[in-house]
Parts: sequence; C-alpha cells; structure tokens
Amino acid sequence: MTGPIENTSGKVYLQVVIPGPLRTVFDYEMAVSDHTPEPVPGCRVLVPFGKYDRVGLVTGSSPTTSLPGNKIKSVHEVIDQKPVLNSAQLTLAQWASKYYHHSLGDIFFSMLPVRLRQKRKFSLPTKTFWSLLPGADRNDIPANATKQRQCLDLIAQRNTPVPETELIAAGISRQILGRLSELKQIQSEQQLDETLPSTTENGPRLTSEQFNAVKHVSLDGFKSYVLNGITGSGKTEVYLQLVEQTINRGKQALLLVPEIGLTPQTVNRFQSRINAPVRVLHSNLKDTEAMDIWSLSSLDQPQVVIATRSGLFAPLPELGLILVDEEHDSSYKQQSGWMYSARDLAIVRAKQAGIPVVLGSATPSLESWQQVKSGAYHELPLTQRPKNQQEPDFEVLDIRKLPLEQGLSLPLLDRIGQTLQTGEQVLVFLNRRGYAPVLMCHDCGWLAECERCLSQFTLHHQKRRLICHHCESSKPVPIHCPDCHSESVTPVGQGTERIEEALRRHFSKYNIARIDRDSTRSRGAMSDYIEAIKKGEYQLLIGTQMLAKGHHFPNLSLVVIVDMDGALFSADFRATERFGQLLKQVSGRAGRDDKKGRVVIQTRQPEHPLLLQLLRDSYAHFSNELLNERKAAHWPPFTHLALLKAEATNEQKPADFLSTVKRIMTPSAQHEKIQLLGPVPALRQKRAGKYRFQLLIQSQQRQSLHLLLNQLVETIESQKLAKSVRWTLDVDPVDLV
Ligand code: ADP
Ligand code: ZN
Ligand code: ZN
Repeated sequence: MTGPIENTSGKVYLQVVIPGPLRTVFDYEMAVSDHTPEPVPGCRVLVPFGKYDRVGLVTGSSPTTSLPGNKIKSVHEVIDQKPVLNSAQLTLAQWASKYYHHSLGDIFFSMLPVRLRQKRKFSLPTKTFWSLLPGADRNDIPANATKQRQCLDLIAQRNTPVPETELIAAGISRQILGRLSELKQIQSEQQLDETLPSTTENGPRLTSEQFNAVKHVSLDGFKSYVLNGITGSGKTEVYLQLVEQTINRGKQALLLVPEIGLTPQTVNRFQSRINAPVRVLHSNLKDTEAMDIWSLSSLDQPQVVIATRSGLFAPLPELGLILVDEEHDSSYKQQSGWMYSARDLAIVRAKQAGIPVVLGSATPSLESWQQVKSGAYHELPLTQRPKNQQEPDFEVLDIRKLPLEQGLSLPLLDRIGQTLQTGEQVLVFLNRRGYAPVLMCHDCGWLAECERCLSQFTLHHQKRRLICHHCESSKPVPIHCPDCHSESVTPVGQGTERIEEALRRHFSKYNIARIDRDSTRSRGAMSDYIEAIKKGEYQLLIGTQMLAKGHHFPNLSLVVIVDMDGALFSADFRATERFGQLLKQVSGRAGRDDKKGRVVIQTRQPEHPLLLQLLRDSYAHFSNELLNERKAAHWPPFTHLALLKAEATNEQKPADFLSTVKRIMTPSAQHEKIQLLGPVPALRQKRAGKYRFQLLIQSQQRQSLHLLLNQLVETIESQKLAKSVRWTLDVDPVDLV
C-alpha cells in the first residue's frame, strides 16, 4: 500500500529531527488522547531510529504523512510536557540551519545542555526549606531534647523559610528535622535553588561619553550598536547601566564574553551592582551545573546571564538586551561541528526578538567596522579614559644588531629592571607556551616532529615532554639524536617557560608569575593568579594572550612585547588585523590607573608601515587602511566566503573529492559569478594523522553564495566519493588554515 495515509481519529504524524548530520525531518506516528496530548514543537520524544531508540525534537505535526504505511514507526515516549526550546530558540535554529547549511538536528542539540541531549527530564533545581507550622511551640518539646529546641529556635528567628542546608550546617541532623515534622512542629517545602542578589552598590558618575553611549541605545526595538571604546575607557560601566535599565523594565539581559575573558571579577561586578540574579554559563561547568543554570534561565523573571559562546542559546524568554564584549574575539566562532559565529547570531537573535544588540571592543572587527561605515550599525565612541589616563608611550626596540639572551635584549632587561625598582609591575608578553617551539640536533639538523601533523613538537620543560600543539600527542624528550646519536639536541626559540627561566635568573629578588594554558589548567588557578597580581603579590608577569585581554591591574606600568614579528607574517588574510588587535589589547594593560604606561616592542621590522601607523594613529585609521586593502583584494567584508574542507588518512582522497565537487559545481558557480579557489592543501596540511585539503568559495553576493551552497550540499550528499572523506562546510570562516 502506498500513497498518503488519512488521519484516523486520535492519530497525528509528528515531524521529528534527530541529532546528527542528516538533514531530513522524519515523520512518526503518535496516538493522542486526553491523557497523552500531542507534544508541541520544542518537546523531545524518544523514537525508534535504526537499531536503537534516539532522542529527537518535535518541529511540527500534521494529520497526514507521505510515508508509505509499512515505513511508519511510532513514537516510543514523549519526554517533555512543555517544550525545552522556546519559539525564539526554534526560530533562531531554523534560520541558522539555512544560513550555515547545517543539519537542524545538530543545531537543536548544540543549543541544549548536555543533560537534555539525553533522555533526562527537564527540571528546575530546587532546595528543601523548613518553616514553623501554625501552633508550633518549643514548650511542647521536652527540655532535654536540646537539638530539637535549638532547631525550632533557629527557624523561629527568621521570618522566611530556612534552607535545610543551613540547618544542617548549624548541626541539626535530618533525623531531628524528621522528628519535628512528625510532631507537627515544622513543615518542608521545595523552593528554587538560587542565590538572590543582596544589597546593590552604586556605580561611578558616568563620563559624558559614557552617558551619551547609554542614552543613544534605545531599548525599544532592534538596532545594532558598536561600542567602540579604547581599553580602559569604561565599556563595562556602559554595559552595567544598560543592563540595569533592562532589569528595571522587568526584562532579561545577556552578556557574551570571549572564552577566556570570563573572570570572577566581571561576574562580581555585575552581582554587586544589578538587583536581579546574575547567572553564569560557560563550557567548563559540570553537566549538572550547566543544566541547573540553563533551566533557571528559562524562567521569565528579570535576570542577567553572562556567558561564553554557546550561552547565546540560553532560553531567556523575556530577553531585552544582548551585549557582546570584545566582539572581535575569534573565540566567538565555533571551530568544529556546527561552525557558527555567536557574534553574528547575536545580531540575528536580537533582530528576531526586536531588541538592541551592543558589540563592544577597543578594536572592532573589520566586519563590524564596515557596518558602522555603511551606516547599518550605530557607533558609540568612548575615546577617553574616565580619569583621563593617557594612552601609553611606545618604544620600538630594533633588535637586528643586538645580542639576545633567550630572546631578550639588554635594553629590554634594563627597562624591566628600572620599572621593578620603582615598585611597579611589568608584563612580559609572548604568545607561545612551552619552553621552546623547536628541538633540533646541532650536528645533523634533525628536528623533533609530530608525524601525525607534520609539524614541530614544542618542548615542555616542566612536564619533560615534547608536546604537539596541534593534536596534543606527546612523547619523552630524547637525550640522543635519533638520527646521528649526537648528544647536541638543543632547544631553539623561546616559549613562556624559557622566558620565565631567563627572567628568574635576572630578577631573582622579585616574585614571578607565568600565566598560560599550562600554568592555569586547574580550576580556579587563573582567578587566584589575577587576585594575587592585583594584590601585588607578583611583580613580574609573563603571559600569553590569556593575560593580554580585559584584565585591569592598577599597578602595572610596563608592557613588554618580546616578539611581534611572528604576528606580522602569516599567510592568513586576517593576520594584519589580528596583529593590530593584539598590539592594542596588550598595550591596553599598561598604565590603567594614575600611572603613565609604557610599552616596549622588540622587533626586526622597526620600519614596518602597519606597525608605525598603529603607533601613530587611532585604531580607526588603521582599520580604514585595512578595509581599503581588503576591498582591493576582494576579501571580506567586501566578499563572502565559505570553505569546504575535506580530510582523510589517505593523502589523495581529499584532493580528489574536492576536485570532483569543483568540476560539478563550476557551471553553476560561473553562472552566479562565484569563484571556486583550489583545492589546495590546508596551511597545516596534516593534523592528527589526517591529510587536509580545502576549496575556497568566494562570492560578491551573499544571496548567490547561499544558492550555490544549497546545491553544493545536495551534490555532495549524492556523491559516493563523499563517503571516503570527512568533509565540513565553514560559512564565514575566520581561519583559512
Ligand atoms: P573597559 O571595559 O573599557 O576596559 P572598565 O569598564 O573596566 O573599562 O573601566 C576601567 C576602569 O575605569 C575600571 O576600574 C572602572 O571602575 C573605572 N571606571 C569606569 N567608568 C568610570 C567612571 N565613569 N568614573 C570613574 N571610574 C570609572
Ligand atoms: Zn643528529
Ligand atoms: Zn600532532
């Protein structure tokens, strides 16, 4: 029997998406009754799929199906009575699925916390609270039952129910509570487990620029703003005021921060200022914690969520404002699976919700800057620091003819020593962790290489291992050269560990902190360091970009950039933009309070025009210059890119696959005036044992790019060859490597 099946009474066909790469929506039959109502879109169901039951998400229903009767399977279980994804989330997911040409199932399930991707029920975290029953009387309790009396007294002292955890901390056992409950003295209830704000502090008087910025943001309706404020200009203060206004209207606010920019200091600042719950969502939470906070964010009470990338998908049904701090940061781009940009999707979410979105940065991305120039986004400039602190003085140290000790020149060591003597702090910046990026045999030139990635191992001294920074594989450090057995295997170049070693030799009187991914791996280590640095427990700081961003150290007056040259020369078309951002961010750490800051840059390119321009002019000038270059070279934001990547253990297959795709797509591409560039090996041609190739797709028009990508995905899925490689499509790639 074929053809559509008519709905018999009490039967519906649910449209269900399943997590995974499949782009199909599946129909499942379900018998509905008063007892088992039809689940609405956003509810999860358990359905048979292949050999197993899978959790799927309902997207709609219909009285009929086009599936033949013998193909129809039934829903096994309805997991949710109420949807776990609200309509705003579903709408955003649908939009994203079209824009990123990615499966809806994957997108839905990336939006959910891990626990809800499984069969678990949605629940709000609650706690037990105890209160006195009417007629409770301590005199009914025998005088020798001191614990019972003590418990009654503790509860009587308060006029709100007391959390059980507090009573237990005061030495009252569960047995005592049970006994008093049997005696009809006290009763328990379940209440939401959340810490409500205590007293709130007042903020400083806004500067006139801050005041204007706050005034210009309309909370009624969608608009994109770029808060373009130099480092230390008080952007966070503007966020706080806007959040406060949002909360006062009974609405919710979302602040997105970069992956490593989320510090307890930021959170404390919001908690002490905002009269509403401030919740934090990030990728290092335990699954249960993430689930609890995510659930609480589904309440419609006024609240603030501070979150990293995926926090953009928090339910927040009454969202009234989205803020994206350090909007230029590349950690907003997801780099695997569904490769979305949380910054870009923040704008989409704001538009769909009809609310404002503020993108803050001292170094706005060229994408956002171009939107400002074209008038699509509104600029809110902060050009001054609140206490009129000056921008730091820059000194370019030409190290071409200077002897270096572990990468540090003598004048540089002098500057560091002088600053330390005055009692001020120094930050030595090097964006390379480990001891040395290369281990080489002096006699035969052998290099320690990771075979899985065809790239050099980094020597880590503390761990006494060679570690590949691309695939994390590691091995012991050889004592003899494996090729010529010579003992002259030597580290070449510097990482933070080696700089630390050199600085310890020179400045043994001072306390030195090295802050990179290795030294801050344990939970809370980073915030302990930040706290200690603020207290002045360390005088000399060595750090990677982890330390370069967002922190405010009042006593730090000298920033030293050990090696700027690496950043200037890279194959990626965004390299110069990144260089400018990093230089501005790092130097923004110097002289934040009343001290004049200084920045010393070691380079072998003292006359590099971009470097000189950055030091001379504003970041806006630099951005305008880069935009001119991008326009001339047909790069984003003047064109739109997608990157089709393929990898396989066999070296030939990814290239063959991409060539085939290119051949099939060429007529359509020509018709749409779209360039197909490649296939070429990825900059890192091999990673974790896989050979990687890519095809770059470049279009003047966003619309025609999407038309082509639709066709491309269909073509690939119909190709046998696609099964021989792992392929991914990256829309608006930030890395072409
Ligand atoms: P940004 O986020 O732009 O780097 P912050 O908001 O952290 O800057 O502000 C930098 C410093 O200036 C902080 O110590 C902050 O408390 C202080 N600050 C901000 N606005 C004002 C103001 N209007 N008056 C006085 N101090 C301010
Ligand atoms: Zn050798
Ligand atoms: Zn490797």
